[in-house]
Amino acid sequence: MAVNILKETCIGCSTCVNACPFGAIAMETDKAVITESCTQCGACIESCPISAIVRDEQEKTGMANKDDYKGIWVYIEQVDGQAKGVGHELLGQGRKLAVALGEELSAIIIGSGVEHLVQQAFASGADKVYIADQEEYSHYNTDAYTLVVADMINTYKPSVVLMGATHDGRDLAPRVACRVGTGLTADCTDLGIDEATGLVAWTRPAFGGNIMATILCPEHRPQMGTVRPKVFKRPEQDISQSGEIVRISTRAQAKDIRTKLIDTIKVCTASCNLEEAEIIVSGGRGMGNPENFELIEELAHVLGGAVGASRAVVDAGWKPALHQIGQTGKTVGPKIYFACGISGAIQHVAGVSSSDIIIAINKDKDAPIFKLADYGIVGDVMEVLPELIAELKKIKQD
Ligand code: FAD
Ligand code: SF4
Ligand code: SF4
Repeated sequence: MAVNILKETCIGCSTCVNACPFGAIAMETDKAVITESCTQCGACIESCPISAIVRDEQEKTGMANKDDYKGIWVYIEQVDGQAKGVGHELLGQGRKLAVALGEELSAIIIGSGVEHLVQQAFASGADKVYIADQEEYSHYNTDAYTLVVADMINTYKPSVVLMGATHDGRDLAPRVACRVGTGLTADCTDLGIDEATGLVAWTRPAFGGNIMATILCPEHRPQMGTVRPKVFKRPEQDISQSGEIVRISTRAQAKDIRTKLIDTIKVCTASCNLEEAEIIVSGGRGMGNPENFELIEELAHVLGGAVGASRAVVDAGWKPALHQIGQTGKTVGPKIYFACGISGAIQHVAGVSSSDIIIAINKDKDAPIFKLADYGIVGDVMEVLPELIAELKKIKQD
C-alpha cells in the first residue's frame, strides 16, 4: 500500500476515518487501519493531527530498480469467456515492442473457465501466458481484478503493461497503476519506441483533441497505458504456436470485493458494438434529420452491421454518443465502412482510416471523404440509400 498509518505514532483520535472519502479507514483496538478499499488518494494524510499517516517513500517516488522490470504484458479482456479483439490487436503491437526491446511478450488472462483463451494468445504471438482462472473472476469486478493484476505485476515485474481502452480497461488500468505506484497514459491512439531513450512512446489526443501528445514514463515501472480498440490490426493467428503457462493462485476474498453483481442489462446491442463490427454504416449531417437516419439503421440491419455517426449528428442529438466515430469518439477498423452524408473532416477520418474498404455517398463531388474512399457515389443519400437497401434485400432473398 502506498499510504500507511504509523501504528506506533497513531493516538486513535479517529479523525482520519471521516476524512477518507472511500470509507477505507477503520478503527481496530484504538488504532486506525487502512483497508483494501483504499484508492491511495492521499486525502487522509493531511487530516491526521500528528502526521501518523504517510506515503510509502519507495512507491511514491517509484524508485524501484528499473532493471528488475522486464517483459511486455498484454491484458486479454474477456466477457463470458470470449476475448475482446483489442487484446489480440495489442499482442500484435506488443510483439513489435518486444522485438525492439529484446524482451518477452506475455498475455494476462483472468476469468472463470477461460483456459481455451490461452491457446488463442499463443496463436496471436504471446511467448508466455499468466492465467488466473477461478470462480471469483467469472465477471469483471474492479476490486478482484485489481488485486490479482497488481499482485502479478509486483511478483513478476513486467517493464510494459498494455490494456484495451474499453469500459473495463479504463476502469482497471488506472486502479492497477495506482496500486503498483506507476503512471498511466490513457486512451492512446498509437504507440512505439522512443529512439533516444528506448522507452515506450505513448501517443494520445490532448487539449480536447487539438494536438497529439507523445508521453514517456521515464522513472516508474511498469510503463502502463490503455490503447483504443482497432488502432492496430489483429495479427494473423498461428495455431501451431505454444509457450509457457504460469498459473496464478492469488485469490480475491469476499472481504476484498465491495460490489455484488445482481443483474446484467445490455444497453449496447449489435448495432452499437462498433469496435468489433465487420461492417459499419455511418451517417452524418447530410442525412438531414433524425428521421432520415432510419435509412442508415436499415442498411446496417440488412448487412448485419453496426450504426455509426459523425460528431455533428451526436451534437445535434440525433444519435447517442456511443455511436460517435472519430478522434473524440470510437476508433473503428471494419472490413467495410459506409460514410453517408459525411464530409470527411480530419477528426472523423482519424477514427476510420484503418477500415479495409471505405464507401462514401455524398452529393458534393469535392467532399474530402472521397480522397479517402475506395468507392464513391456522388448523389443524394435520400435517393441512393433506398435503392441500395432494395438491391441488397433482393440479393439476400435470392
Ligand atoms: P458536415 O461537415 O456538415 O458534412 C455534411 C456532408 O453531407 C457534406 O459533405 C455534404 O456535402 C453532405 N450532404 C449534405 N446533404 C446531403 C445529401 N442529401 N446527400 C448526400 N450528401 C449530403 N467529428 C467526428 O465525426 N468525430 C469526432 O470524433 C470529432 N472530433 C472532433 C474533435 C475536435 C477537437 C474538433 C474541433 C472537431 C471534431 N469533430 C469530430 C468535428 C468535425 O470537425 C466535423 O465538424 C464533423 O465530422 C462534421 O460532421 P459531418 O460530416 O456529419 O457534417
Ligand atoms: Fe482513504 Fe485516500 Fe487515505 Fe486511502 S489514501 S485511506 S482512500 S483517504
Ligand atoms: Fe491515528 Fe492520525 Fe487517524 Fe488519529 S488521524 S486515528 S492519530 S492516524
